[in-house]
Amino acid sequence: MKIGTKIALQFTLIVAIILGIFSSSLFYLLESYTKKEFTKYLKDRAITTASLLIKEKNISKKLLKIIDKNSLSTLYAAQVLIFDKENNIAYANTEADSVYYNPEILEKIRSEKYVNVELNNKTVVGITYSSPEQNYEYLVYAQAEDINGKQKLENIKYAMTTGLITALLTTIIFSFIFSNQALKPISKLNLEISKISAQNKIKKLSTRNSKDEIAALAHNFNEMLSRLERSFQIQKSFVSNASHELRTPLAAIKSEIQVALEKERKPEEYQEILTMLEKDNARMVKLTNSLLQLAKTEEGDLNLKTENVRIDEILFEVQDELTHQMANYRISIDFETIPEDEDFLTINGNKALLATLFNNIIENACKYSENNTASVKLKFNKSNCIINIIDQGIGISKAEIDRVFEPFFRTKNAVNFNGHGLGLSICKKIVETHKGRILLKSEEGVGSVFSIILPHI
Ligand code: ADP
Repeated sequence: MKIGTKIALQFTLIVAIILGIFSSSLFYLLESYTKKEFTKYLKDRAITTASLLIKEKNISKKLLKIIDKNSLSTLYAAQVLIFDKENNIAYANTEADSVYYNPEILEKIRSEKYVNVELNNKTVVGITYSSPEQNYEYLVYAQAEDINGKQKLENIKYAMTTGLITALLTTIIFSFIFSNQALKPISKLNLEISKISAQNKIKKLSTRNSKDEIAALAHNFNEMLSRLERSFQIQKSFVSNASHELRTPLAAIKSEIQVALEKERKPEEYQEILTMLEKDNARMVKLTNSLLQLAKTEEGDLNLKTENVRIDEILFEVQDELTHQMANYRISIDFETIPEDEDFLTINGNKALLATLFNNIIENACKYSENNTASVKLKFNKSNCIINIIDQGIGISKAEIDRVFEPFFRTKNAVNFNGHGLGLSICKKIVETHKGRILLKSEEGVGSVFSIILPHI
């Protein structure tokens, strides 16, 4: 069932329940009020007849009957019987046979002094009336049907039912209109989304000039599309970049071999060509290793083996390894804040991947700065370990800063340095796999600060 229909039906059901409760309680109150009023009238009528007959000596039974007969034709026509102490009829304003009563009910009236019951659709009021002169109690039995009241209640019931049905029909119509109106932007959004497919050029959704939740949804969806579009582009360019990077050393190797085979050469010349071949081969090995590393980190989330590792130990090992490889690299490691305990220095992660991460970033800091110096500063807070890697190197321009984590991206000012542009994308993946963050602040010609934030144990 569509959400719009569901909302409309639920809303109608709620309105139906509220109206149903309201009208039935109103009808119940009206009914009991009408009954009460009619019983009071009947009681008054019984008392009036009895007092006229018993107290007023001047009124004859005949006259009273005439008065009563006149009232019998009205809507509140009450039939009144008065019984003496032997339960013989002392007075009747109508044919006594037409009034239903039995000895049990008369007995009940005598013992309880006042009785009000419903008999054969008629209201019955029975009271006892004492005559001080004769010193005994008469029994007054009045009976009538509240035709007027019943008719009124019937009319009210009809009006209420008609009103209820009309109100419900109106509610159904309006709730359908309103729910469809409210969900229209969602339907529109849905239609626009269904038009976007992998083959289609990604089209942005219209966000309208409103600040409601649906506009926010469309805005967020557009942002997600932009990110997806970006990663589609990165993926597309990845293969062509990788093949281009591999083709360059392969073409160099091919031409070097051709040169070697052109004619008979001296041993020193062969040695020179073999050295060049070794260099190009080393370049290819480095590139394929980086590609493999990237592939590994991409599937790393699934089967990453983790252990508790000390971040300072990894940093010292990386420092050792890099200064051994490149004698001109200078790497300093300092604690900016002293860790409260050993756990602040310990990270649950993969030691080899973390070593690759720091190796790449510290190597870049040395590689891309004239003084080949990287300064590593460690800081801690309650939940994270923050490692800042600072250099005073070539820096990165504002326009390029967001792109350096893309595979194969290299800044314009880095063309004279060796590299394939894969290191930082590997680093980003490693940090994300460890539920951390990597931030970059850099200014062209001034230097860069890479901040790696990793949660400690
Ligand atoms: P590369 O092998 O080219 O160093 P990376 O992925 O490690 O690849 O870096 C991507 C690009 O980011 C580099 O080519 C360079 O342009 C820029 N970059 C990285 N680190 C620094 C740094 N410390 N200073 C200046 N530029 C840097």
